[in-house]
Amino acid sequence: MKNLSIRVKITLWFTAILIFITSCTYVIVFSVNRQLLQKTIRDELIRTVEDNVDEVEYYRNLGVADPQEVDYYMAFGEGYLEVDDDFLDKVNEVYTSLYSEDATLLYGENPISKHTASLEFADAKIQHLTINGTLYYVFDRKLVLEGLEGLWLRGIVSENQGMTQMVAITRLLLLFLPLFVVISIIGGYLFARRLLKPIQRISESAARIGGSGDLKERIEIGEGKDELHQLAAGFNEMFGRLEDAFEAERQFTSDASHELRTPVSVITAQCEMSLEETRSVEEYEQALRTIQRQGRKMSKLINDMLDFTRLEMRAESYVREMVDMTELVRTICSDMAMIKEKDITLKYEAETGIKIYGNRQLLSRLLVNLITNAYRYGREDGLIFVSLKRLGEAVELSVSDNGIGIAEGEQQKIFRRFYQADNSHSAIGTGLGLSMAYEIVQFHGGEIRVESEPGKGSVFFVDFK
Ligand code: ADP
Repeated sequence: MKNLSIRVKITLWFTAILIFITSCTYVIVFSVNRQLLQKTIRDELIRTVEDNVDEVEYYRNLGVADPQEVDYYMAFGEGYLEVDDDFLDKVNEVYTSLYSEDATLLYGENPISKHTASLEFADAKIQHLTINGTLYYVFDRKLVLEGLEGLWLRGIVSENQGMTQMVAITRLLLLFLPLFVVISIIGGYLFARRLLKPIQRISESAARIGGSGDLKERIEIGEGKDELHQLAAGFNEMFGRLEDAFEAERQFTSDASHELRTPVSVITAQCEMSLEETRSVEEYEQALRTIQRQGRKMSKLINDMLDFTRLEMRAESYVREMVDMTELVRTICSDMAMIKEKDITLKYEAETGIKIYGNRQLLSRLLVNLITNAYRYGREDGLIFVSLKRLGEAVELSVSDNGIGIAEGEQQKIFRRFYQADNSHSAIGTGLGLSMAYEIVQFHGGEIRVESEPGKGSVFFVDFK
């Protein structure tokens, strides 16, 4: 069963159901029909006999009537019995006959008279008799005619009456129901095949994409809104996301190798230059310093990249908890205010009791990155101001500086990986600080933006909802 296709399974399933329903129909139709038939036969028997009751009359003397003109006469007892023309002795397989008390047949027909001879008369009661496997119904009526007793009307009908009708219905059923079942099975099979065709296409496309690895391909099953079209759309969406993820991965690897190539070539060049010929101590010292600087840059780049990858690929590994932002901002700012760079002053203002549900390590990293940039791109004797405050339901963190600022056309680009604006001119940065900040803010469901004017300074706003 497991190896059968869905199409065959569905067909087998409704074939079984159809056969079950057909069998039930047979049983119901037969039993209802049989009951109906029996009732009809009995009713017919009673009606015929009762109708005949009025057709028999008794006369003490025949009087003036002309025997030619009247119906059937026979001498009986001290008078005559008249049986009307309307007397139905054989109609619809119902036989009616007139008997005297001593069971002598006076008029009519009885096909089983031999067997009924011993059957006692019972007024207005149906009696049963089985002869050679055939069931007969017998219905008697006692006639009470003027001054005369001891006459009986006996009606007889066999169950075979009406059987022809039943046989015809049975034949029809036997022929049409199986035909109907076969047509349904074939139709159902074809319908299931047509219905399941898209699944075949989906699996073919998925196998093709899996085989070629070309995530640009999509599953095409035409227009539609049913479950299978939804499934195909779901797959296509997944392929789209996989394509984006692979593209991002590819971009990251290419950017990273590109970024690492510069320090590596500087280091190699410095080494080659130093080894080419004997140099002065100052020259060696300078080469070593360059190598040291480039080494540090590479190390920072590698660390940043690792952090970045971890945040992007394994964000769930960062635990979330209630973080006291006020305390975090105050601690980091008072520590970083110690930095003696370009004589910049760092001031801060943090509203008390602000808490954020998030990751402490990442939030610290965010603030440190923003303050580091403010120092890096700040001006001599400049000022950095960090603020943390509530804005309605939200919390706003901002870091402003009065440094070199960012050109308008670059303000959006600085959040991209490895992007460094024209103003940077720095060999220290890696271009990952702000993209890391962006990812951290995303992780906390917030927003980050910058307002800046070249030559005047920049303000980075982070809104936590
Ligand atoms: P980097 O390591 O180069 O600082 P970031 O991602 O932190 O990389 O920043 C990207 C670029 O944005 C920087 O190279 C710099 O050009 C610009 N930038 C960032 N912060 C500031 C700031 N406070 N003032 C001016 N420019 C800034």
